Amino acid sequence: MKLSEAKPIIEALMSDSPIAEITHWLNHAYEGDGDDSYCESCADKAKAALISGLVGEDLPAWDNCTEETLEIYHDYMESDGSRTCDACGKILAVALTDCGVDSELSHFEESGVETALEWRAIAAVIDAIDYVEGARFVALQQPEAVALYDRTVALVEKYLPKLEGKS
Ligand SMILES: [Zn+2]
Repeated sequence: MKLSEAKPIIEALMSDSPIAEITHWLNHAYEGDGDDSYCESCADKAKAALISGLVGEDLPAWDNCTEETLEIYHDYMESDGSRTCDACGKILAVALTDCGVDSELSHFEESGVETALEWRAIAAVIDAIDYVEGARFVALQQPEAVALYDRTVALVEKYLPKLEGKS
């Protein structure tokens, strides 16, 4: 099986889980970027909380928080692993690096793939490694990438529900 063939089946399996959101973070004009990654609504809440003068473990310890000094940035980020909103736990959409693909595969090879949310994580792995399928030179240049691709295929084939034969 090719990953491009598995993708539509996996998209159906993951449809019951919340859509992954792009990563948001706070930036302060004098302090720089905050350490936390948020979904959009939690970024809005964190900004409002800082402006209203709240302090807390989940908020950066910044002075001078106003509409003028605080900005919310967002981007589709590269990551060495899956990421969730630091405030609410929602999955954030990231572009997994090969290292991230490896760590996700190791996790799911150990624990299996069952829920819609887990299939959504597998779809992110496929998005990150399916370049191997279209790039023949990869086999010569990057045996590590081909090995990751083959592990992804093996994992998907192991856990994809068996399709009923037509009677
Ligand atoms: Zn959130």
